[in-house]
Amino acid sequence: MKIGFIGLGNMGNPMVRNLLKHSHTVRVFDVVPELVNKLTELGCEAATSAGKCAHGADVVITMLPSSPHVRRVYQDAHGVLASVSPGALLIDSSTIDPHTARDVAMDALGKRLAMVDAPVSGGTGGAEAGTLTFMVGGSADNFARAKPILEAMGKNIVHCGDAGNGQVAKICNNMMLAVEMIATAEGMALATKLGMDPQVFAAIANTSSGRCWSSDTYNPYPGVIPTAPASRGYSGGFGTDLMLKDLTLVTEAAKAAKQPVMLAAAAQQLYQMHSTMGNGALDFSSIIKLYIKQ
Ligand code: NAD
Repeated sequence: MKIGFIGLGNMGNPMVRNLLKHSHTVRVFDVVPELVNKLTELGCEAATSAGKCAHGADVVITMLPSSPHVRRVYQDAHGVLASVSPGALLIDSSTIDPHTARDVAMDALGKRLAMVDAPVSGGTGGAEAGTLTFMVGGSADNFARAKPILEAMGKNIVHCGDAGNGQVAKICNNMMLAVEMIATAEGMALATKLGMDPQVFAAIANTSSGRCWSSDTYNPYPGVIPTAPASRGYSGGFGTDLMLKDLTLVTEAAKAAKQPVMLAAAAQQLYQMHSTMGNGALDFSSIIKLYIKQ
């Protein structure tokens, strides 16, 4: 396949390298030229704009920071929708709001182009290892076309329904994760303040009804789980600012849908405060710093 790939940052770079490993021909573009150069050294062709990257490609994949970047890259006068050949498949793997995903997909449909939204979970580790989970929104036909391409970069490729539903799955899962993480942080902090050993309390919670992924796999209390970011100064993992971005997408989507999300709104504010205090680059489990002195 001739693939155009736009957005070569922390996620895009390793995703392109996995496409190369699967013998795809990849043309790349990023607004930062050094990021393009890193991949031309590995055999990619360089493009000088998003439109030129898309021109003549069988498949275009985008991995961009947020909704305005996606609109610009696809909908600008010389962007992807204006430049791509008829019959091409468009895959946006950025995490953006479901409304924008649906709007861009409608524009693509208007030009008889096939498009899916396919945000990921698994982080940079999953992107390197080619084990990402892709949550895909779009028609069954478009999903069937996208699946073999996505399999070069991921392990679980899940059809979530129509356009935009990949983004819905992504942000609603992360909303639950954020709330569970904060609840775990509060529980761990209170139990230790009241005199319990953190290991003993975590062991009890993890065999009782308080158990969740944040308590048994990714516990925010330092030293409880040796492999968790909490046991290495909250380095690596999933950054506070990325969680904040997803929670902001959640609260905005909920507002537009007139659907209450009280705990997600509180979580968004707590992560906002934590980021403002200078913790944006730390793993999101560092939210426990709001509750305990470390
Ligand atoms: P990043 O900021 O490292 O990379 C984004 C790239 O897009 C940058 O290199 C930037 O220069 C480029 N870009 C911006 N505007 C552009 C334009 N108009 N044309 C071409 N290139 C442009 O971000 P990332 O960590 O790679 O994340 C990408 C997406 O994946 C985000 O939506 C993020 O929320 C999501 N995501 C990230 C992770 C993670 O762990 N990093 C995990 C899951 C999902």
